[in-house]
Amino acid sequence: MIRKREPHNAKIGLMGGTFDPIHYGHLVSAEVARQQFALDRVIFVPAGVPPHKQEGKVTAARHRYLMTVMAVMSNPYFYVSSYEVDKKEPSYTIDTVRHFAQKAGGAGLYFITGADAIMDLLTWKDYEALLEACTFIAVSRPGYSLERLREILGRRCPQYLDKVHMLEIPALAISSTFIRERAALGKTIRYLTPDPVERYIKKEGLYLNRL
Ligand code: ATP
Ligand code: MG
Repeated sequence: MIRKREPHNAKIGLMGGTFDPIHYGHLVSAEVARQQFALDRVIFVPAGVPPHKQEGKVTAARHRYLMTVMAVMSNPYFYVSSYEVDKKEPSYTIDTVRHFAQKAGGAGLYFITGADAIMDLLTWKDYEALLEACTFIAVSRPGYSLERLREILGRRCPQYLDKVHMLEIPALAISSTFIRERAALGKTIRYLTPDPVERYIKKEGLYLNRL
């Protein structure tokens, strides 16, 4: 998905997440960011063992990876990387960004994240190096304020304000947690995630007994 010879002015979006499961909130975020920032492609990077989520409570990486592939298949600009799920040790965003930076040569990297996740940015490992290594696109998410984020960044690290772009997207109050809870109760999750993902969850019996 990173081409052998990436043009120097290429712009690549990275969309990190646990994707347990992937849903339309993720897809709309990536698609709107792609168009708004004229990204050449967006690479979805499902997390291996997320450092902030308890091991054992997260669905096996192979299921999350497969669901992500199914969800992005019809979009010619979307790709999935197994970089993090293939790693044995926990993956930090800085390692992933460095990996893609090295592979992509001079291409510009844009890390797409929801307003909730980026609020934690200042607690992330080596966040300053991260802000040096890529540009962030913080997309709106119901319940989280981009304004507040701008305020916090302005106070804590004003030198990086221009490395974090705020992007309003059509609000989708969908979360993976919400889908997992519904699936566990046998409630419909149709139209919250692409059909193949919905069918895969049913077929594999994911999220049953997860309450
Ligand atoms: P969970 O409920 O398990 O935390 P989630 O829905 O938040 O799942 P993640 O895999 O944690 O999904 O999120 C990956 C990225 O997508 C994060 O940057 C998150 O902020 C963003 N994101 C998730 N859902 C939405 C949404 N509905 N609107 C905007 N951004 C979203
Ligand atoms: Mg989340």
